[in-house]
This record gives sequence, C-alpha cells and structure tokens, in this order.
Amino acid sequence: MHNDIKEILISEEEIKAKCKELGKQLSEEYEGKFPLAIGVLKGAMPFMSDVLRYTEVHLEMDFMDVSSYDGGTRSSGEVKIVKDLDAKVEGRDLLIIEDIIDSGLTLSYLVDLFKYRKANSIKIVTLLDKPSGRTAAIKADLAGFEVPNEFVVGYGLDYQEKYRNLPYIGVLKPEIYGGEEESE
Ligand code: 5GP
Ligand code: MG
Ligand code: MG
Repeated sequence: MHNDIKEILISEEEIKAKCKELGKQLSEEYEGKFPLAIGVLKGAMPFMSDVLRYTEVHLEMDFMDVSSYDGGTRSSGEVKIVKDLDAKVEGRDLLIIEDIIDSGLTLSYLVDLFKYRKANSIKIVTLLDKPSGRTAAIKADLAGFEVPNEFVVGYGLDYQEKYRNLPYIGVLKPEIYGGEEESE
C-alpha cells in the first residue's frame, strides 16, 4: 500500500469484478446500437478503459475535459469546457463515463449540454457514487460502488494531480491534506 494512504476502501480485485459486471450490463443495454462512449477526463480514464474492455458491442470513444471554476473540494456547477468532443452528438446514444458523482453539478451541466446538442439518448455510468453530496437532480443509470462522504483517491481520482495511478480506491492520511482544501 502507498505510504500516503490510510485505508483501502475498494481493492483492485473488487474493481475488476465490478467492471466485468458493468461491462456485461452495458453490452445488453446497447445491443445492436453504436453508442458514443464519453469519458470525462482525467479521472474516468482507468475506469473507462477497464469497463469498456468487458463490453461486446461496437462503440465509439471520445473524451471531454471540463473544469469547475470553484477552487475547493466541491464543484460549483459553473463548468468550463477545457476539451470538447470531436464527435457530433446529434442523434447519438451517449454513454457518459465518470469516476465519481458527488454534487452532480458537473454531470448536470454535461447532460443539459448534450440535450441541447440533440442526443438521441443519454445514460451515465459511474464507478463511484457519493449520494450524500448530491445537490443536483442527477442519478447514474449504472453505478459501481457507493462511497461515504469522504474524499477518496486512486484509480483515476486525484489529490492535487497525484494518486491517479493507484490500482485501488483509498483514503489519504489526514496529514497529507495539511489542512488545505483541494484546488482543481
Ligand atoms: P460533482 O460535480 O459531482 O460534485 O463532482 C465531480 C468531480 O469532482 C468528480 O468527477 C471528481 O473529479 C471530483 N470529486 C468529487 N468527489 C471526489 C472525491 O472524493 N475524490 C476526488 N479525488 N475527486 C472527487
Ligand atoms: Mg470526474
Ligand atoms: Mg480532481
């Protein structure tokens, strides 16, 4: 275990088993379709790679990078598009892939944007769900694990751009934060 990690909440093995399960469900969901899978950078990268590996449908992959204007550990809902999609959304079946849904404000913005761009359907798959943090009316169609209202890192999730490469989801030792809030 990494020296900065206090506790592992979800192990590498549990994540892998969950990706297989979710991949199978997505295959059924999109059978006969050609969805556009949209990874929200950077956090969703490992999960997107693993979950889509276990799907058996034809799909297209694209990426979107958004950042919140808020500087703290919570997002403000005011979202800036850092990298937009290459693909056209109109008429497409979209699968948004997220690392975690906390307030839901980021996804709420993206869903509204994709509706405006005339998507045929929009579904959300997230590895982690933190329902206690929710302020926007957003629900994942598929969610891997529910997590408590704690700041988690690993498997794509960062603290000041670190820990994304850890193969598990964990909680940092309190001294790592140094009493400072995360800045995005
Ligand atoms: P939301 O807009 O739902 O509040 O938050 C979305 C983004 O905030 C996530 O995609 C993630 O980047 C970040 N976030 C929310 N909760 C956590 C957490 O517990 N750990 C980390 N590392 N990032 C989080
Ligand atoms: Mg994210
Ligand atoms: Mg972050």
